[in-house]
Amino acid sequence: MFKLKYLIVIIASFFLFSACNKPSSSDNPEGNDSTQTSTSEVVEPEIKKNSTVEILAKKQVPVLCYHRIENGRSDEYTVSLATFEAQIKVLADSGYMSINPDEYYDYLVYNKELPEKPVMISFDDSRVEHFTIGKPILEKYGFKGVFFIMTITYNKKNYMSTEQLAELAKTGHTVGFHSWDHTRAIRYNNDSILRVNVIEPKNKLEEIIGKPVEYFAYPYGLTNAETTAQMNDHFKMSFILSTKQDTINPIQSVRRMIAPEWSPQSLIRAMEKTFSRR
Ligand SMILES: [Zn+2]
Repeated sequence: MFKLKYLIVIIASFFLFSACNKPSSSDNPEGNDSTQTSTSEVVEPEIKKNSTVEILAKKQVPVLCYHRIENGRSDEYTVSLATFEAQIKVLADSGYMSINPDEYYDYLVYNKELPEKPVMISFDDSRVEHFTIGKPILEKYGFKGVFFIMTITYNKKNYMSTEQLAELAKTGHTVGFHSWDHTRAIRYNNDSILRVNVIEPKNKLEEIIGKPVEYFAYPYGLTNAETTAQMNDHFKMSFILSTKQDTINPIQSVRRMIAPEWSPQSLIRAMEKTFSRR
């Protein structure tokens, strides 16, 4: 068995080696040496990235965070169906346009333009009503959402199925990551916890949706300087809640706010206030 594995590795390396060599022989029919080929290549200028100070000087985009959409509960993590729709409707009526995390990132890092009134609408913890209620209501008002997935819940009662997750990604919504089992991110400094809570489940989620998963919402919105820096290795951008942004790593500590059972006008006022400070 061991020998067989070894043989497979050798055969695979042979094919890899020949595949790597192919393009250079066809690209280089004249037999020029590699030095000449590389000097004749057009070198694209690297687009300048904003510095941390420049990122922090940019106006924040309001990012809303929903957990449960359910009638008959009263806690800060739940909105009733009517409140959810009223909140989404007021955003549309007030001229807000939804953006996705790619657009927010490109705005922060490369100064790309955003709509005049941008908003990001996000959902944490993979609940099934994000798909059955959230998605259709967003689409009714012309919005796209961002769904941060806790992957231990795949196909469980009250949570989204893997087919529903694939459908979200296929229909233009963004699927982000929210850990395997909601372990606090400050514990990811342990290799095995990192592997189980980030590396393996992120790979699996990418397989399910057929796209890279590049955005992360910290479980409970909690992080610290060390963890925030560590996320550079795994995600393009990460999200906290409405606590203070990390001034050394603002891209890995982008702010969101929970939208609770508030009237539409209270929501708009809270958005303005929350995202005018850091
Ligand atoms: Zn959560």
